Amino acid sequence: MEHIDADLLIQEWQDVVDLLAAIINVPAGLIMKLDKGKLEVFVSSKTPDNPYKVGENEVMENSGLYCETVIKSNKKLKVTNALTDDKWKNNPDVKLNMISYLGFPIRYPDGNPFGTICILDSKENNYSDNHEKLIEKLRDLIERELTIIDNNYQLKRISEIDALTQIDNRYSFLTKAEIEINRSKRYNHHLSFIFFDLDWFKKINDKYGHQVGDTVLKEFSKKVNSQLRTTDLFGRYGGEEFIVALPETDLTSAKLLANRIRERIQKMNIVCGSRNISITVSAGVSELTDDDRDIDSVINRADKALYEAKQSGRNKVC
Ligand code: GH3
Ligand code: MG
Ligand code: MG
Repeated sequence: MEHIDADLLIQEWQDVVDLLAAIINVPAGLIMKLDKGKLEVFVSSKTPDNPYKVGENEVMENSGLYCETVIKSNKKLKVTNALTDDKWKNNPDVKLNMISYLGFPIRYPDGNPFGTICILDSKENNYSDNHEKLIEKLRDLIERELTIIDNNYQLKRISEIDALTQIDNRYSFLTKAEIEINRSKRYNHHLSFIFFDLDWFKKINDKYGHQVGDTVLKEFSKKVNSQLRTTDLFGRYGGEEFIVALPETDLTSAKLLANRIRERIQKMNIVCGSRNISITVSAGVSELTDDDRDIDSVINRADKALYEAKQSGRNKVC
């Protein structure tokens, strides 16, 4: 769940813990977050005697913290007075004079622990049922927010990433390439495109079956990706057609790269079960010029060059 950016919600959750601490009249309301094995104060109520500062953390293993118990048991914890129970004698919270506690676990949508929502008091406190229900309800709302963030992320991913090759789909590539075109024009920088089309790919499907064809497409994408810089764009344009955008790259350099990739692809040995398959690819290259009004014209030139590469015998770059 690394992709869930809970930081976006900090302000909203700040209001939640501030209200909690005020309504229940305790010095501290917290949202704790488990991060790389550490329990961190993620949001802390702005209350006068609150000893917890955002960012403070403890290693989770045997910390003695109330929240560690909540996370490990994945259950609510209520401690009315920790001084009456030896179990809490090494608890750093108690050393801060926080002798009573009420907290609930917060989970990510996949069930893994996010952290806790809790309140702490410096005096014995037997928190009422309504206070318990209130925190539990807020916990539920927080979990629902995490689910919405996750769903939005998954939807965005599905709409932008090609499911087979895990690279950008055509729509996503074109959107990013438009931005790159505007940037290159504004700063008068080079920007080149390579259009790839696998040679005789239909024969691979016909001879070995669609599944083998799919594996070939995946392995091809991986190989190309490994030859690109992180700032380059790479997308699946359609079936067995792929497109690359190379910022800060002129036509000559783009052709050199396309040829290097073409050679690497030719040398590749794709293992599919007991079969070893080799393929070749043709490529057309173009560079953005001042005359290009939009993305279509520069991609069309790469497409025309690709046609030439096919006409001149395949396994070529034009
Ligand atoms: P050329 O050298 O002229 O490009 O010949 P080709 O056979 O590669 O070209 P053609 O356009 O005739 O065939 C492309 C094939 O790609 C046909 C289609 O079934 C196959 N294809 C498209 N998408 C997929 C896919 O997702 N998986 C598999 N396995 N095959 C696909
Ligand atoms: Mg094709
Ligand atoms: Mg083809």
